[in-house]
Amino acid sequence: MKRIFSGVQPTGNLHLGNYLGAIRNWVRLQDDYEDCIFCVVDLHAITVWQDPAALTKATREVAAAFIAAGINPEKAVLFNQSQVPAHAQLAWVFNCVARMGWLNRMTQFKEKAGKNRENVSVGLYAYPNLMAADILAYKATHVPVGEDQKQHLELTRDIAIKFNNDFGKEVFPITEPLIFGEGTRVMSLRDGTKKMSKSDPSDYSRITLVDDADAIAQKIRKAKTDPEPLPETVEGLEGRPEAANLINIYAALSDRTRAEVMGEMGGKAFSEFKTLLTDLAVSVLAPMTTRMNELLADQAELDAILRRGAERANEIASPILDEVYDAVGFLRP
Ligand code: ATP
Ligand code: MG
Repeated sequence: MKRIFSGVQPTGNLHLGNYLGAIRNWVRLQDDYEDCIFCVVDLHAITVWQDPAALTKATREVAAAFIAAGINPEKAVLFNQSQVPAHAQLAWVFNCVARMGWLNRMTQFKEKAGKNRENVSVGLYAYPNLMAADILAYKATHVPVGEDQKQHLELTRDIAIKFNNDFGKEVFPITEPLIFGEGTRVMSLRDGTKKMSKSDPSDYSRITLVDDADAIAQKIRKAKTDPEPLPETVEGLEGRPEAANLINIYAALSDRTRAEVMGEMGGKAFSEFKTLLTDLAVSVLAPMTTRMNELLADQAELDAILRRGAERANEIASPILDEVYDAVGFLRP
């Protein structure tokens, strides 16, 4: 049986990178895989400081964004992580399976901790173990991952292998990545070499799913470019990261290849291309933003959707956790 797990942190408003690189693909997966589990990973979020009220608000916003983007909560399992205890419980076991040396190699920790290593939370360091628990608490067989999460999925596989070996039982599957094609990686609008990110301090670096048409237009107008007009071909984008990024975004939003887009946009001035890109972005994002706002207006219903999702998630994870606890030798009633 195939089972998909994926998560997004409620660390701020979702942006075009989250949508084009992740959520949009997950919406499509729902049709191909019976069993899809989508999680708002609030336990991950607190690895760096989150204002409590903002965390609650962002959790609802991310859940609403999932649904507005087309995730069907009747079909897929949609919930927030802290409502299902198995994540934290299994993460502890994995803290004792994973080796320090493995975590020391994680590039995301190095990037996020920077020079301040002594002062970041222990949770930030152990984050990949919690991610392994998210996936393996459901014995997920496939995880759609962006480039930025590949190394963490490798670690998940290493943990599964070591657990199975240590305890002499094939408890966990060796989870496979699902990698998507073009448009997977959206870069910052201020710097074409840095990924678009919720945690980037500059609001102008990203287009979010709550931006209205004016905000989208302004951010695209201010997006960094170089002085040359667009090249004629895809090859001409080489060495021009900002131009390449805007073309990638256009291609992803219009569901076309970069070559097709260059056929149409090649040679145009940025000013003209940016207007076309704005119109396209607004036409794709506006209906989603409207739906998100409707969902957020009925908080009780949204919370009920997450509670029902958590119940379903718990039903899957509980027997798996029992199996783990038995394998480890924990005495249970
Ligand atoms: P943070 O800065 O807090 O880490 P983030 O923007 O990286 O936030 P995550 O919640 O870490 O967002 O990631 C959610 C999903 O979105 C993941 O599947 C991740 O691979 C994907 N993703 C994040 N940023 C991008 C991007 N710029 N382009 C494509 N996919 C992205
Ligand atoms: Mg991230």
